[in-house]
Amino acid sequence: MKSRILSAAFALIAVLAAGAHAQQFPTRSITMIVPYAAGGPTDTVARVVAQAMQKSLGQTVVVENRPSAGGILGPEVVKNAKPDGYAILIHHIGMATTPALYRQLRYNPLTDFEYIGLINDVPMTLIARGNFPAKDFKEFLAYIKANKEKITYANAGIGAASHLCGMLFMSAIGTDLLTVPYKGTAPAMNDLLGGQVDFMCDQTTNTTAQIKAGKVKVYAVTSAKRVPSLPDVPTLQELGLKGFEVGIWHALYAPKGTPKEAMDKLVAALQAAVKDPEVNKRFAELGATAYPPEKATPAALAAHLKAEIEKWGPVIRKAGVYAD
Ligand code: ASP
Repeated sequence: MKSRILSAAFALIAVLAAGAHAQQFPTRSITMIVPYAAGGPTDTVARVVAQAMQKSLGQTVVVENRPSAGGILGPEVVKNAKPDGYAILIHHIGMATTPALYRQLRYNPLTDFEYIGLINDVPMTLIARGNFPAKDFKEFLAYIKANKEKITYANAGIGAASHLCGMLFMSAIGTDLLTVPYKGTAPAMNDLLGGQVDFMCDQTTNTTAQIKAGKVKVYAVTSAKRVPSLPDVPTLQELGLKGFEVGIWHALYAPKGTPKEAMDKLVAALQAAVKDPEVNKRFAELGATAYPPEKATPAALAAHLKAEIEKWGPVIRKAGVYAD
Protein backbone atom coordinates (compact mmCIF):
# COMPACT_ATOMS: atom_id res chain seq x y z
CA MET A 1 0.00 0.00 0.00
CA LYS A 2 2.68 2.38 1.14
CA SER A 3 4.83 1.61 -1.89
CA ARG A 4 1.85 2.18 -4.21
CA ILE A 5 1.26 5.61 -2.67
CA LEU A 6 4.95 6.33 -3.00
CA SER A 7 5.13 5.34 -6.65
CA ALA A 8 1.98 7.36 -7.38
CA ALA A 9 3.63 10.33 -5.68
CA PHE A 10 6.78 9.85 -7.76
CA ALA A 11 4.72 9.60 -10.94
CA LEU A 12 2.95 12.83 -10.03
CA ILE A 13 6.26 14.57 -9.33
CA ALA A 14 7.59 13.34 -12.69
CA VAL A 15 4.53 14.72 -14.51
CA LEU A 16 4.79 18.05 -12.69
CA ALA A 17 8.51 18.24 -13.38
CA ALA A 18 7.96 17.55 -17.09
CA GLY A 19 5.23 20.20 -17.12
CA ALA A 20 7.47 22.73 -15.42
CA HIS A 21 10.24 21.92 -17.88
CA ALA A 22 7.89 22.40 -20.86
CA GLN A 23 6.78 25.72 -19.46
CA GLN A 24 10.33 26.88 -19.25
CA PHE A 25 10.69 27.75 -22.91
CA PRO A 26 11.13 30.60 -23.61
CA THR A 27 12.85 32.18 -20.63
CA ARG A 28 14.51 34.91 -22.68
CA SER A 29 14.18 36.66 -26.01
CA ILE A 30 14.17 34.74 -29.27
CA THR A 31 16.09 35.91 -32.33
CA MET A 32 14.45 35.74 -35.75
CA ILE A 33 17.11 35.87 -38.46
CA VAL A 34 16.15 37.70 -41.66
CA PRO A 35 18.46 36.80 -44.58
CA TYR A 36 17.97 40.16 -46.32
CA ALA A 37 18.43 43.87 -45.64
CA ALA A 38 16.38 45.78 -43.07
CA GLY A 39 13.34 47.61 -44.39
CA GLY A 40 12.79 45.15 -47.28
CA PRO A 41 9.98 42.68 -47.94
CA THR A 42 11.21 39.75 -45.81
CA ASP A 43 12.09 42.12 -42.99
CA THR A 44 8.58 43.60 -43.15
CA VAL A 45 6.91 40.17 -42.88
CA ALA A 46 9.34 39.22 -40.09
CA ARG A 47 8.49 42.26 -37.99
CA VAL A 48 4.73 41.73 -38.31
CA VAL A 49 5.01 38.04 -37.38
CA ALA A 50 7.60 38.56 -34.62
CA GLN A 51 5.40 41.11 -32.91
CA ALA A 52 2.40 38.80 -33.01
CA MET A 53 4.37 35.73 -31.85
CA GLN A 54 5.73 37.47 -28.80
CA LYS A 55 2.18 37.85 -27.47
CA SER A 56 1.86 34.06 -27.11
CA LEU A 57 5.49 33.39 -26.26
CA GLY A 58 5.58 35.97 -23.49
CA GLN A 59 9.08 36.99 -24.58
CA THR A 60 10.45 39.45 -27.09
CA VAL A 61 11.15 38.16 -30.59
CA VAL A 62 14.08 40.20 -31.85
CA VAL A 63 14.46 40.55 -35.62
CA GLU A 64 18.10 40.38 -36.71
CA ASN A 65 19.15 41.04 -40.30
CA ARG A 66 21.97 38.93 -41.75
CA PRO A 67 21.80 40.18 -45.34
CA SER A 68 23.62 38.67 -48.27
CA ALA A 69 22.96 38.62 -52.01
CA GLY A 70 20.57 35.73 -52.64
CA GLY A 71 19.78 35.39 -48.93
CA ILE A 72 22.14 32.43 -48.49
CA LEU A 73 23.91 33.55 -45.32
CA GLY A 74 20.87 33.61 -42.97
CA PRO A 75 20.05 29.90 -43.34
CA GLU A 76 23.69 29.00 -42.70
CA VAL A 77 23.73 31.12 -39.53
CA VAL A 78 20.60 29.39 -38.21
CA LYS A 79 21.80 25.94 -39.27
CA ASN A 80 24.90 26.50 -37.11
CA ALA A 81 23.07 28.13 -34.19
CA LYS A 82 22.52 26.24 -30.94
CA PRO A 83 19.37 24.13 -31.44
CA ASP A 84 17.54 25.42 -28.38
CA GLY A 85 14.66 27.36 -29.96
CA TYR A 86 16.21 30.77 -29.35
CA ALA A 87 17.40 31.24 -32.94
CA ILE A 88 14.91 30.84 -35.75
CA LEU A 89 14.93 31.68 -39.44
CA ILE A 90 12.37 33.38 -41.60
CA HIS A 91 12.86 32.71 -45.30
CA HIS A 92 10.92 32.63 -48.52
CA ILE A 93 10.78 30.66 -51.75
CA GLY A 94 14.59 30.96 -51.85
CA MET A 95 14.77 27.89 -49.58
CA ALA A 96 13.35 25.94 -52.53
CA THR A 97 15.24 27.60 -55.38
CA THR A 98 18.77 27.97 -53.97
CA PRO A 99 19.53 24.21 -54.04
CA ALA A 100 19.23 24.31 -57.85
CA LEU A 101 20.91 27.72 -58.22
CA TYR A 102 24.05 27.16 -56.14
CA ARG A 103 26.66 24.54 -56.84
CA GLN A 104 28.03 24.89 -53.31
CA LEU A 105 25.29 25.71 -50.88
CA ARG A 106 26.39 25.54 -47.25
CA TYR A 107 23.02 24.30 -45.98
CA ASN A 108 20.50 21.71 -47.04
CA PRO A 109 16.91 22.93 -46.66
CA LEU A 110 15.69 19.32 -46.48
CA THR A 111 18.00 18.03 -43.75
CA ASP A 112 19.45 20.92 -41.69
CA PHE A 113 16.28 22.37 -40.18
CA GLU A 114 13.21 21.72 -38.10
CA TYR A 115 10.13 23.17 -39.76
CA ILE A 116 7.88 25.51 -37.81
CA GLY A 117 5.34 26.33 -40.51
CA LEU A 118 4.15 28.43 -43.43
CA ILE A 119 3.40 32.12 -42.89
CA ASN A 120 2.04 33.85 -45.99
CA ASP A 121 1.97 34.29 -49.72
CA VAL A 122 3.02 37.55 -51.35
CA PRO A 123 2.51 38.52 -54.99
CA MET A 124 5.06 40.57 -56.89
CA THR A 125 4.84 43.74 -58.93
CA LEU A 126 6.70 44.87 -62.02
CA ILE A 127 7.84 48.41 -61.28
CA ALA A 128 10.16 51.00 -62.83
CA ARG A 129 11.79 54.24 -61.71
CA GLY A 130 9.31 57.12 -61.50
CA ASN A 131 10.54 58.84 -64.65
CA PHE A 132 10.72 55.71 -66.80
CA PRO A 133 9.51 56.65 -70.30
CA ALA A 134 6.61 54.18 -70.63
CA LYS A 135 3.06 54.80 -69.51
CA ASP A 136 1.82 51.22 -69.72
CA PHE A 137 3.07 47.65 -70.14
CA LYS A 138 2.93 47.76 -73.92
CA GLU A 139 5.19 50.81 -74.06
CA PHE A 140 7.37 49.36 -71.32
CA LEU A 141 7.95 46.16 -73.26
CA ALA A 142 8.67 48.01 -76.50
CA TYR A 143 11.10 50.34 -74.70
CA ILE A 144 13.11 47.67 -72.89
CA LYS A 145 13.38 45.57 -76.04
CA ALA A 146 14.52 48.56 -78.08
CA ASN A 147 17.05 49.63 -75.42
CA LYS A 148 18.18 46.25 -74.14
CA GLU A 149 21.87 47.21 -74.14
CA LYS A 150 21.39 49.91 -71.52
CA ILE A 151 18.39 48.82 -69.42
CA THR A 152 19.20 47.65 -65.89
CA TYR A 153 17.22 45.23 -63.77
CA ALA A 154 17.71 45.38 -59.98
CA ASN A 155 17.43 42.25 -57.85
CA ALA A 156 18.50 40.89 -54.49
CA GLY A 157 21.00 38.38 -55.87
CA ILE A 158 20.76 34.83 -57.18
CA GLY A 159 18.19 33.02 -55.06
CA ALA A 160 16.09 36.09 -54.29
CA ALA A 161 12.44 36.34 -55.26
CA SER A 162 13.33 39.33 -57.41
CA HIS A 163 15.93 37.19 -59.17
CA LEU A 164 13.45 34.40 -59.85
CA CYS A 165 10.81 36.81 -61.15
CA GLY A 166 13.31 38.65 -63.35
CA MET A 167 14.66 35.40 -64.74
CA LEU A 168 11.16 34.16 -65.63
CA PHE A 169 10.18 37.55 -67.06
CA MET A 170 13.26 37.82 -69.28
CA SER A 171 12.72 34.30 -70.52
CA ALA A 172 8.99 35.04 -71.18
CA ILE A 173 9.81 38.12 -73.27
CA GLY A 174 12.87 36.52 -74.88
CA THR A 175 15.20 39.36 -73.86
CA ASP A 176 18.28 39.24 -71.63
CA LEU A 177 19.00 42.36 -69.62
CA LEU A 178 21.79 43.49 -67.34
CA THR A 179 21.04 42.69 -63.68
CA VAL A 180 22.33 44.65 -60.71
CA PRO A 181 22.38 42.57 -57.48
CA TYR A 182 21.86 43.96 -53.96
CA LYS A 183 21.68 42.39 -50.48
CA GLY A 184 17.93 42.87 -50.44
CA THR A 185 15.35 44.87 -52.32
CA ALA A 186 15.34 47.64 -49.68
CA PRO A 187 18.68 48.97 -51.02
CA ALA A 188 17.56 48.11 -54.58
CA MET A 189 14.42 50.20 -54.05
CA ASN A 190 16.56 53.12 -52.86
CA ASP A 191 18.51 53.01 -56.10
CA LEU A 192 15.32 52.67 -58.14
CA LEU A 193 13.89 55.73 -56.39
CA GLY A 194 17.16 57.54 -57.07
CA GLY A 195 16.99 56.55 -60.75
CA GLN A 196 20.28 54.57 -60.68
CA VAL A 197 18.54 51.42 -61.98
CA ASP A 198 15.57 51.09 -64.34
CA PHE A 199 13.21 48.39 -63.15
CA MET A 200 12.59 45.56 -60.76
CA CYS A 201 10.11 42.83 -59.92
CA ASP A 202 9.53 42.98 -56.20
CA GLN A 203 7.06 41.85 -53.58
CA THR A 204 4.03 43.98 -52.75
CA THR A 205 5.23 44.06 -49.13
CA ASN A 206 7.99 46.38 -50.37
CA THR A 207 6.35 48.16 -53.28
CA THR A 208 2.76 48.99 -52.26
CA ALA A 209 3.61 52.19 -50.39
CA GLN A 210 5.86 53.47 -53.21
CA ILE A 211 3.24 52.59 -55.84
CA LYS A 212 0.48 54.34 -53.89
CA ALA A 213 2.66 57.39 -53.35
CA GLY A 214 3.33 57.51 -57.11
CA LYS A 215 7.09 57.27 -56.57
CA VAL A 216 7.52 54.33 -58.92
CA LYS A 217 5.67 53.25 -62.05
CA VAL A 218 3.81 49.96 -61.84
CA TYR A 219 3.02 47.91 -64.94
CA ALA A 220 1.74 44.57 -63.67
CA VAL A 221 1.31 42.08 -60.85
CA THR A 222 2.70 38.54 -61.08
CA SER A 223 -0.25 36.70 -59.51
CA ALA A 224 -2.87 34.85 -61.58
CA LYS A 225 -5.55 37.19 -60.22
CA ARG A 226 -5.40 40.90 -59.50
CA VAL A 227 -4.30 41.93 -56.01
CA PRO A 228 -7.16 43.46 -53.95
CA SER A 229 -4.92 46.21 -52.53
CA LEU A 230 -3.85 47.22 -56.08
CA PRO A 231 -7.09 46.66 -58.02
CA ASP A 232 -6.15 48.78 -61.05
CA VAL A 233 -2.93 46.93 -61.80
CA PRO A 234 -3.32 44.20 -64.46
CA THR A 235 -1.79 40.74 -64.15
CA LEU A 236 1.01 39.69 -66.51
CA GLN A 237 -1.34 36.99 -67.76
CA GLU A 238 -3.94 39.61 -68.74
CA LEU A 239 -1.16 41.41 -70.57
CA GLY A 240 -0.38 38.37 -72.68
CA LEU A 241 2.36 36.51 -70.77
CA LYS A 242 0.62 33.15 -70.75
CA GLY A 243 0.86 31.14 -67.54
CA PHE A 244 3.11 33.72 -65.83
CA GLU A 245 2.59 33.35 -62.11
CA VAL A 246 5.02 33.94 -59.26
CA GLY A 247 3.90 33.92 -55.63
CA ILE A 248 6.41 34.25 -52.81
CA TRP A 249 5.73 32.11 -49.76
CA HIS A 250 7.40 32.62 -46.39
CA ALA A 251 8.04 30.16 -43.61
CA LEU A 252 9.81 29.73 -40.27
CA TYR A 253 12.60 27.26 -39.50
CA ALA A 254 14.67 26.24 -36.47
CA PRO A 255 18.03 24.44 -36.38
CA LYS A 256 17.87 20.65 -36.64
CA GLY A 257 17.58 19.09 -33.21
CA THR A 258 15.60 21.88 -31.55
CA PRO A 259 13.74 20.17 -28.66
CA LYS A 260 10.07 19.31 -29.05
CA GLU A 261 8.92 21.57 -26.17
CA ALA A 262 10.43 24.58 -27.89
CA MET A 263 9.13 23.53 -31.30
CA ASP A 264 5.59 23.08 -29.94
CA LYS A 265 5.65 26.57 -28.43
CA LEU A 266 7.00 28.12 -31.63
CA VAL A 267 4.41 26.35 -33.78
CA ALA A 268 1.59 27.44 -31.45
CA ALA A 269 2.86 31.03 -31.54
CA LEU A 270 3.01 31.00 -35.35
CA GLN A 271 -0.51 29.58 -35.52
CA ALA A 272 -1.76 32.33 -33.22
CA ALA A 273 0.02 34.90 -35.40
CA VAL A 274 -1.58 33.79 -38.68
CA LYS A 275 -5.01 33.98 -36.99
CA ASP A 276 -4.29 37.37 -35.41
CA PRO A 277 -6.65 40.05 -36.88
CA GLU A 278 -3.92 42.71 -36.69
CA VAL A 279 -1.54 40.50 -38.67
CA ASN A 280 -4.20 39.82 -41.29
CA LYS A 281 -5.07 43.51 -41.58
CA ARG A 282 -1.43 44.48 -42.06
CA PHE A 283 -0.84 41.69 -44.57
CA ALA A 284 -3.94 42.75 -46.55
CA GLU A 285 -2.68 46.35 -46.72
CA LEU A 286 0.57 45.00 -48.11
CA GLY A 287 -1.11 42.66 -50.62
CA ALA A 288 -0.10 39.52 -48.67
CA THR A 289 -2.29 36.59 -47.55
CA ALA A 290 -1.64 34.59 -44.38
CA TYR A 291 -1.83 30.81 -44.59
CA PRO A 292 -4.59 29.21 -42.48
CA PRO A 293 -3.38 27.78 -39.12
CA GLU A 294 -3.46 24.21 -40.47
CA LYS A 295 -0.69 25.23 -42.89
CA ALA A 296 1.31 26.94 -40.15
CA THR A 297 2.59 23.50 -39.15
CA PRO A 298 5.82 21.52 -39.54
CA ALA A 299 4.11 18.88 -41.73
CA ALA A 300 2.57 21.43 -44.10
CA LEU A 301 5.89 23.25 -44.49
CA ALA A 302 7.80 20.00 -45.07
CA ALA A 303 5.37 19.00 -47.83
CA HIS A 304 5.33 22.48 -49.41
CA LEU A 305 9.11 22.86 -49.40
CA LYS A 306 9.60 19.47 -51.03
CA ALA A 307 6.96 20.21 -53.68
CA GLU A 308 8.51 23.62 -54.41
CA ILE A 309 12.02 22.17 -54.73
CA GLU A 310 10.61 19.66 -57.22
CA LYS A 311 8.72 22.41 -59.06
CA TRP A 312 11.52 24.97 -59.42
CA GLY A 313 14.56 22.71 -59.84
CA PRO A 314 13.75 21.73 -63.46
CA VAL A 315 12.71 25.33 -64.38
CA ILE A 316 16.01 26.68 -63.08
CA ARG A 317 18.10 23.93 -64.65
CA LYS A 318 16.38 24.64 -67.97
CA ALA A 319 17.20 28.34 -67.65
CA GLY A 320 20.82 27.32 -66.98
CA VAL A 321 21.43 29.86 -64.19
CA TYR A 322 24.06 28.96 -61.62
CA ALA A 323 26.10 30.58 -58.92
CA ASP A 324 29.13 29.06 -57.20
N1 ASP B 1 13.10 39.07 -49.97
C1 ASP B 1 14.19 39.93 -50.35
C2 ASP B 1 14.33 41.08 -49.38
O1 ASP B 1 13.75 41.05 -48.33
C3 ASP B 1 14.04 40.42 -51.73
C4 ASP B 1 13.91 39.32 -52.73
O2 ASP B 1 13.90 38.16 -52.36
O3 ASP B 1 13.82 39.67 -53.89
O4 ASP B 1 15.03 42.02 -49.67
